[in-house]
Amino acid sequence: MSSLAQLISDLASGAVRVVDLTQPLGPDTPVIGLPEIFAPSPGFSMEEISRYDDGGPGWYWNTIRLGEHTGTHFDAPVHWITGKDLPDNRCDTIPAGRFVGPGCVIDVSGDAARDEDFLLTPARIEAWEAEHGRIAAGSWVFLRTDWSKRRDPAAFLNVREDGPHSPGFSADATRLLIDRDVLGVGVETVGTDAGQAGSFDPPFPNHTLMHGAGKLGLASLANLDQLPATGSLVIAAPLKIVDGSGSPLRVLALV
Ligand code: MN
Repeated sequence: MSSLAQLISDLASGAVRVVDLTQPLGPDTPVIGLPEIFAPSPGFSMEEISRYDDGGPGWYWNTIRLGEHTGTHFDAPVHWITGKDLPDNRCDTIPAGRFVGPGCVIDVSGDAARDEDFLLTPARIEAWEAEHGRIAAGSWVFLRTDWSKRRDPAAFLNVREDGPHSPGFSADATRLLIDRDVLGVGVETVGTDAGQAGSFDPPFPNHTLMHGAGKLGLASLANLDQLPATGSLVIAAPLKIVDGSGSPLRVLALV
């Protein structure tokens, strides 16, 4: 049997399950806030075109409007200035093969519960590798924080007087993942950098370094607690937006 025939059989029997890593996308979907000197990204809105009425007696459809980086979404390398001149750096030009890869889940949910500003370190990645094996080139690396279980948008964004507080990656952890030649990272928080990362050196190190290295990002993921540490196959394909810097998407894991 070919590997695809085996996979089809396993999907039919339930031996392989499809886990949806995507949050619902609607008007209540939280959007990252920026300091007022910067342009804000609009959240999701929807306007009805017709619903079995005079506008279309037999059909229902809508117009949607949203920032590219809304809800569960994809960050292309061109999103950051460090990735702006790389080849194949946009939603429509990234080779489709780079949207599929094995999933590695680093579970720091306990740490994030104790410390909302928790940062993944190289030592923590190496401890994970000692248990699960070296992160393979071409992997999606997911930071499981259980942050997606914060259903209240205010608790999810967790903004205080000194800005947002949420877990993420240290600059050196990002450098180690680039050294492993991962496809990219995925997080449960609103963006791939920690809430306080604007004050890091460099600022927003995950965006700055990963996109500068041509790597991809996935934000606002859900259900990472349903994935094994290794052994899943993840499909994360953005809309083919011409010159797009990112896109909402449906992220699926075969488990
Ligand atoms: Mn983004």
